[in-house]
Amino acid sequence: MKYSFIIIVICFIGLTTCSNKSEDRYSKTDKTMAEDNPKYKTDAEKLAKQLELKGISDTLVLKAIASVPRHKFVDEELREYAYLDRPLPIDRNQTISQPYTVAYQSELLKLKPGEKVLEVGTGSGYQAAVLCEMGATVFSIERYEELHKTSKAILNSLGYYPNLFYGDGYEGLPEHAPFDKILITAAPEHVPEKLLQQLKIGGWMVVPVGGRRGQKMTIILRTGKDSYDESEHGDFIFVPMQKGTEK
Ligand code: SAH
Repeated sequence: MKYSFIIIVICFIGLTTCSNKSEDRYSKTDKTMAEDNPKYKTDAEKLAKQLELKGISDTLVLKAIASVPRHKFVDEELREYAYLDRPLPIDRNQTISQPYTVAYQSELLKLKPGEKVLEVGTGSGYQAAVLCEMGATVFSIERYEELHKTSKAILNSLGYYPNLFYGDGYEGLPEHAPFDKILITAAPEHVPEKLLQQLKIGGWMVVPVGGRRGQKMTIILRTGKDSYDESEHGDFIFVPMQKGTEK
């Protein structure tokens, strides 16, 4: 009896030490602690509040931003910036979009749970995680094999299992079409024709269209077999959507 009391006390001390440690910022030295770090939750919730003040109103989007651990999708050196509303560099000279942009594009999708979404440009995997949190059935393509592999590992380690593909997003995924929505997270100079064909009638694509100096966020609604409606929703800057694949 006495021994079990001592054991309980020792366990309790052990637990409090752990939770104190886990109060630290996303520390480099204690990776496993950072993984279960409840601090990120508070930071992610603050980020969602900030985006709400900037005009994002879809509660499904705000809840997803408040839940996804964005620090897991960037290099350890950048983790302290992960909950600022900023784009950050990822490997292969690409970027994880600014949280506002992720939220804005996600809001334009007006997702209903279970809808089938094709994302072009998996990149870090963060946007795919947000879409998973929103209850979508997610398909995502990335043209860099390296990014495809790392994003897959991170997403799966966090319990997200979108359907991830290494390939050229200009081709889409005809074998999985049609999609309710298509989200493009890199900028094509012109709307990719083949992707329009992979939309359901009544579905739409959210795509930043334009050259390197800036793009117009565009929604293209498929109104019939060969008819589309287009509308513009502000100016943004994305990395270019490039043809083909690379290692
Ligand atoms: N959604 C990403 C944003 C990454 S930036 C995130 O949440 O992190 C855009 C990504 O689009 C880059 O990773 C880039 O390699 C990818 N990309 C560019 N052109 C592409 C194409 N044709 N097919 C697939 N991915 C492409």
